[in-house]
Amino acid sequence: MIVKPRVRGFICTTAHPIGCAANVAEQVRYVRGRPQFSNGPKNVLVIGASGGYGLPSRISAAFGSGAATLGLSFEKPPTESKTASAGWYNNRAFDKLAKEAGLWARTLDGDAFSDEMKTETIDVIKNEMGPIDLVIYSLASPVRKDPVTGEVYRSAIKPLGKTFHVKTLNVDKAEVHEVDLEPAEEAETEATVKVMGGEDWERWMNALAEACVLAPGCQTVSYTYIGSELTWPIYWHATLGKAKEDLDRAAQAIAARLDDIGGDAKVAVLKCVTTQSSAAIPVVPLYASLLFKVMKEQDSHETCMEHVQRLFETQLYGDAGQRLDEERRIRVDDLELADQVQDEVKRRWPLVTTANLHELTDFAGFRYDFLRIFGFGVPGVDYDAEVDPQSIEPLA
Ligand code: NAD
Repeated sequence: MIVKPRVRGFICTTAHPIGCAANVAEQVRYVRGRPQFSNGPKNVLVIGASGGYGLPSRISAAFGSGAATLGLSFEKPPTESKTASAGWYNNRAFDKLAKEAGLWARTLDGDAFSDEMKTETIDVIKNEMGPIDLVIYSLASPVRKDPVTGEVYRSAIKPLGKTFHVKTLNVDKAEVHEVDLEPAEEAETEATVKVMGGEDWERWMNALAEACVLAPGCQTVSYTYIGSELTWPIYWHATLGKAKEDLDRAAQAIAARLDDIGGDAKVAVLKCVTTQSSAAIPVVPLYASLLFKVMKEQDSHETCMEHVQRLFETQLYGDAGQRLDEERRIRVDDLELADQVQDEVKRRWPLVTTANLHELTDFAGFRYDFLRIFGFGVPGVDYDAEVDPQSIEPLA
C-alpha cells in the first residue's frame, strides 16, 4: 500500500513503517556520534519505550552506554490493510538496530498498568537479563485500569477551581482563537492522579524490589513537566499538575524502599516537545510553536533525542553533578525556562494571531515534528512507494 498521513485533530491514524524506522535510525546515529558516558547503566527497563521521551531514553542507554534494554509499550500491530501505530514500527526498528550492534534488547507490548505485565517483565529479567540498574518510567496514557479494584479511570486535562479563558491553536486549520476551558470536578482530578500520578510507578518498583531483580545502587526516574506561567493554568496548576505532584510523593516513597540496596528514585523535569501526548493538551501546541521559534532564534532548541541525551550524559551519568531543585527533582528544563526565552515568549503571546502565526511562531516546526512522530516528512523516504504495513523493510 501507499501510506499517507491521515490527521484528525491531534492524532494521525496512519504511520509510515519506513519513515518510523528512519526516525529511529537518525536518533541512534545522533547518540553514536556522542561520547559514551562514564559509569553508564548495564541493564535498563524503560516503561513507555516506543516513542516520545521513552524511546530516546532507551536509545541513550543502549547506544550511549552499551546497555541491555527491556522496553514496554502499548502499541497497535498492523493488519494486511491497516498500518500499525508509529510506536510498533519504532520498536521493530530499535530491536533490529540493537541486534545489529550486538546489544541485548527485548520489547514487550501490553498494558503496563496490569499485574500480568509486571509478572511477565520480572520473568524476562530473571530468565534472560539480570538485575536492573536503571528504570525509566515514561508512560503517558489517558486511561488506567486499577489492577486491584478493576475500576477504569480516565484522566481529564482541565484547569482547577475556575474557568480558564485562553488563547489556543486549531492545529488542523492553523487558526488562533480563544476558548473557555471549564474547571475539573473533584472526581476528575482524582481520576487524573490515578492515571498519571505516582501509584503505578510505585507498584512497579515495589514489584521489582520484592522479586529481587534490582541491582545494588539501582536508580529509577520518572518524567514530569512544569513549564511556564503561560501553561500553568492548564498544566502545572491543573489536573495534570496534581498528578505530577503525586510523582514527587512517590519518588520519596520509592527512594525509601530502595534505601537498603543503595538505590534512589527521582523525578526529572523535562522540556516541552511535540509528542502524541503533548499535542493533545490544549494551549500546548501554541505555546510550543512560540517556544520553538524563540529557542531556535536563540540557538538553545533541543530535539527530544538531544534533550534526553543531555539528561543521561550530565545528570543521570557522567561527572557533572545533578542540578536538583528543592523537591530533589532533576532539572533539565533550564533552557526552556531561561529568562531570555520566557520573556520573549511572553512578549509575543498577546500579539500572536492567525494572520501572523507563521511570522511570530514556529508553527511549521511544530507541524513538522508532529508528522515526523508518525514517520512522515523524513528526508530520503519515498512516500509514493508501495510499502508492506507489516514490515519496516522497503519492498524489493
Ligand atoms: P508519548 O505519548 O509520546 O509516549 C507514551 C508511551 O507510553 C508510549 O511508549 C506508549 O506506548 C506508552 N504507553 C501508554 N499507555 C501504556 C500502557 N497502558 N501500557 C504500556 N505502555 C503504555 O508520551 P511522552 O510525551 O513521551 O510522555 C512521557 C512522559 O514524559 C510523561 O510522563 C510526560 O508527562 C513526560 N513529559 C513530556 C513532555 C512533553 O512535552 N511531551 C515534557 C515533559 C515531560
